[in-house]
Amino acid sequence: RVKRSGRDGVQFFDVEKRRHREAQAQAVLRVQQALDAGELCLYYQPKLDLVSGALLGAEALLRWRHPQRGLLAPATFLPTVERSGMAAQLGHWVLEQALDQLRRWRAAGLDIELSVNISPRHLAAPAFGPRLAALLARHPDVPPDRLVLELLESSALDDVEQAKRLLADCKRLGLRLAMDDFGTGYATLSVLKQLPLDQLKIDRSFVQTMLVDPQDRALVQGVIALAGQFGCALVAEGVESPAHAQALVALGCHVGQGSGLCDPLPPDELLDWARRRGPSGAIT
Ligand code: C2E
Ligand code: MG
Ligand code: MG
Ligand code: MG
Repeated sequence: RVKRSGRDGVQFFDVEKRRHREAQAQAVLRVQQALDAGELCLYYQPKLDLVSGALLGAEALLRWRHPQRGLLAPATFLPTVERSGMAAQLGHWVLEQALDQLRRWRAAGLDIELSVNISPRHLAAPAFGPRLAALLARHPDVPPDRLVLELLESSALDDVEQAKRLLADCKRLGLRLAMDDFGTGYATLSVLKQLPLDQLKIDRSFVQTMLVDPQDRALVQGVIALAGQFGCALVAEGVESPAHAQALVALGCHVGQGSGLCDPLPPDELLDWARRRGPSGAIT
C-alpha cells in the first residue's frame, strides 16, 4: 500500500510537471508571436554626466506593448524566455534593434553610446561571437566602441574560462563591456578581476538606500574604489533624486541613470528629449 501511494505520488508529480512544461512552452510561444507581430520594442534610458548634465549614452530596455495588458516590463516575460531556446534569438534581435537605433541617432547627429543587456544564456549560445561580428559588419557606420554589453555576474559563474574567451572575443570586435548590478551576484572579486571589463554599474539597491543607510553608503564607496583599482568607469543606477546625484558625485561617481534624471523613453523620443534640453541640461 505504501508503495502504491508512492507511485500515485510520482504520477501526480509527473502530471504537474507536464502541465508546467506546457504552460511554459505556451508562454514562450506568446513571446515569439509578439516578436513576429512587432509588439516588442526597446525603450531607452538616458545616461548622464551627473555634474554637467551632458547626455553620455543610453541603456536599451526591452518592453512588450501587449494589446490587452498594456506596456509590460521585462520581468513579466523575460524569465520564461531565458529558460527556453528563444533566449539567443531574442537577444540577437535586441542587438539588431540597438545597432539600428545607434545608426539612426548618428545620422541625426547624436553621437552617444548605447548599452544592451546580454543574458547569460545568450552569451553562452553557440556562435555568439561570430553572429555579433556579422551584425557589426552590417553596420559599418557605427563604431563598435559605441556599443556596451551589460553582463551579469552569473555569466561568469558556470565556466570562467569560457566567459573569459567570449569576452575577449567581444573586446577584439572593439565593443565595451560593463558588469551590471555590480555587487548583487555571486561572482568573487578574483573572478571579476580576470574579466576585461570597462564599466561597473552600481546596483540601484545600494544607491536607493545610500542616503539613509551608512552601510550601503560604504558599499557604494567600496565599489567606487574598486572601479578605480580595476581601471573601470562607473555608472550608478537608480538615481531617483537630486540628493542621490549629489551624494554620488561627492563620493566620486560622475555618471548615472535613474527616474530622477529621466525615465526610459519610447523609441525615437530620446532624440527629441536631447534636442529639447540642449547640449547640457542642468540637474537641479
Ligand atoms: P537592469 O539592466 O539593471 O536595468 C535597470 C532597470 O531599472 C530597468 O528596469 C529600469 O527601467 C529600472 N530603473 C531605471 N531607473 C530607475 C529608478 O530610478 N528607480 C527604479 N526603481 N528603477 C529604475 P526594467 O526596464 O524593468 O528592466 C529590468 C531588467 O530586465 C534589467 O535590469 C535587465 O536585467 C533586464 N532587461 C531589460 N531589457 C533587457 C534586454 O533587452 N535583454 C536582457 N537580456 N535583459 C533585459
Ligand atoms: Mg542593465
Ligand atoms: Mg542594472
Ligand atoms: Mg539593477
